[in-house]
Amino acid sequence: MNEQERHKKKAQKQKEKVDASVAKAQIERGIVLVITGNGKGKSTSGFGTVTRCIGHGYKAAVVQFIKGKWDCGERNLLEQNGVPFAVMGTGFTWDTQDRAADIAAATEVWQEGKKFLADPQYHVVLLDEMTYMLGYDYLDKQEVLDAIKNRPENQSVIITGRGAIRELRDMADTVSEIKDEKHAFKAGIKARQGVDW
Ligand code: ATP
Ligand code: MG
Repeated sequence: MNEQERHKKKAQKQKEKVDASVAKAQIERGIVLVITGNGKGKSTSGFGTVTRCIGHGYKAAVVQFIKGKWDCGERNLLEQNGVPFAVMGTGFTWDTQDRAADIAAATEVWQEGKKFLADPQYHVVLLDEMTYMLGYDYLDKQEVLDAIKNRPENQSVIITGRGAIRELRDMADTVSEIKDEKHAFKAGIKARQGVDW
């Protein structure tokens, strides 16, 4: 067998394997997707999926649990395309350390999140930076897990943020842990509009 034949045989085997696993996946339902870890790319992945979703004509909704210092490029675009955003208003910043105010703000925006999670018109619901709300006990863990679990069957939920709690990882169908190998910021490069927010 020459090099080309060997390659062809290997590729054929690989294709058979892939075809078999594609044939095996027959369940049709929405999924829970957790994107966690310390590397860059969690929120951008979540927003990418929302874009993918509305590009196919489905509806999506977004809850942002931590409002950054900067305006969010994705929000500017997606709101123009009919995607509702619930954004944690006052309260939460990393600096205030006012726990009561943070809890009040988290609880308020969670009421919006709960509505999205109960509404079958939304094909995808993005809960951006929600991991912290559970990690710090700002929200009732069981209530959040139940709302996700009891969502409409065809709805998918994406949860982003570092340090996802074990219960969230356990209930998820897909968990991606994004590893921080290096980040420009650590080399002194400023966060860039259009890239970092
Ligand atoms: P992105 O929004 O770019 O997908 P992310 O959601 O994975 O990032 P967060 O932890 O939410 O990351 O951080 C938000 C901001 O911090 C972004 O501007 C991002 O570029 C920056 N950032 C993300 N990871 C790191 C890192 N490992 N070191 C320094 N800055 C980071
Ligand atoms: Mg993020």
